[in-house]
Amino acid sequence: MRRLISLCSFFVLIALLPLAPPAPAQSAASAASPDWQTLQSEAVQKLAAYIAVNTTDPPGNEILAAQWYAKIFQAERIPFEIAESAPGRGNIVARLKGSGSLPALILLNHMDVVPVSRQFWTVDPFAGLVRDGYLWGRGSLDMKSLGILQLLTFLELHRLHVPLRRDVIFVGTADEEAGGNFGAGWVVTNRPHWLTGAGFVLTEGAGSRADASGKPIYFGVGPTEKTPAWLELVATGRSGHASIPISNSAPNQLVTALEHLRQYRPPLELTPPVEAMLRTHAPYEPEPWRSRLLNIKNFLAQPDAYAELQKRPDILARLTNTISVTGLTGSNKINIIPPDARAELDCRLLPGWTIDRWVAQVRGIINNPSIKINVILNFPPATSSTDTPLFASIEKAVHALDPGAGVVQTVDAGFTDSHFFRDKGIISYGFEPFTVTREDDERVHGDNERIPVKNYQDGMHLLWSVVYDFVRAQ
Ligand SMILES: [Zn+2]
Repeated sequence: MRRLISLCSFFVLIALLPLAPPAPAQSAASAASPDWQTLQSEAVQKLAAYIAVNTTDPPGNEILAAQWYAKIFQAERIPFEIAESAPGRGNIVARLKGSGSLPALILLNHMDVVPVSRQFWTVDPFAGLVRDGYLWGRGSLDMKSLGILQLLTFLELHRLHVPLRRDVIFVGTADEEAGGNFGAGWVVTNRPHWLTGAGFVLTEGAGSRADASGKPIYFGVGPTEKTPAWLELVATGRSGHASIPISNSAPNQLVTALEHLRQYRPPLELTPPVEAMLRTHAPYEPEPWRSRLLNIKNFLAQPDAYAELQKRPDILARLTNTISVTGLTGSNKINIIPPDARAELDCRLLPGWTIDRWVAQVRGIINNPSIKINVILNFPPATSSTDTPLFASIEKAVHALDPGAGVVQTVDAGFTDSHFFRDKGIISYGFEPFTVTREDDERVHGDNERIPVKNYQDGMHLLWSVVYDFVRAQ
């Protein structure tokens, strides 16, 4: 992760097409409607082609995806701009102009995907195959599918000449899977004009669930997420020949510190976004969790609450800060006691926690002032309000298209690129307009990643409805 810290930007490519001739504006009163069959077939065909653009990160090579999008924008006569944060690390933007009377909406998607272990796949992960009702391939869930739905929503607004009360900005970025500093983080700092006038972002995260038959149960909206506090502990001590032990050697001090951390039980803490999450998820939980989550304060006051929550690590992780020891290094020779020993900790913090407070907490737990604590990655906590017209448009569209499904709030245990935008005061939601089963969801970053075609195509309709409601001139 160290390379995340050194940013470089030395190559920029700008490709601007002349603005398309003004189109006959559609009257604001008449509703525009895509030809769903055509659009939903296009969604499948484009996703298959996009999966074939290999943007495995590392190294990323997102410039290939940016150029792939660029060809589409060229064909549709939509101006766009590409910028590389480093060679091969492409980012792309395109904007539909509205009246400017309200803040713009960014449709944000990352173009990189995580690596595959080909030997465990039953199909070519970059072929974009449709089989057994699924579209298979790396990125089919995370997040090339949503990228294509965002693209087609954007294109349809243009194709149908929908008069807009806000600008709509399509942004495809590099590097999300490695922290985003060559992607969204770079764009926010180095291409601020891409985001001019923006007040809202829709991107990945939150997750939307279908039952085993594929029927939507709920759609998630993520207004915040836990923040990473990736730490390195460095213990130092006298080195020497391992035949004569040194009781306070660097490795021994480190192991003692880690044992304190292993035994530490972070206190339960109910934050407002998590309370909203648990309350809105409760109806979809079996008993006894349904009642527990509905009355979460009562449940947390029970003496056995912690023990019960340990059976549900997914809920527990939303109620505590977490620590996972992930890396250990010491001597590279078995008979040398090294002068230093290091551990990497992946800690995740609840909304509201600052890094300084957390480092002080860790320092107190390990209780050894000679151990140094370095912060490898962190960003400030930020939460977007859910009392917004964008949230209302999501609820309205879900209720219209899937009256049986709910809208739930989610606090992601991981993190996305949203924080770069929340830090700028832009309302940012994780929102995936297609539902998948729990089993489908577990293939994200795993083998045989695939998306159910019908749910994906239904997601095209839902995303269009949300965005159309939110941006069209009234
Ligand atoms: Zn992703």
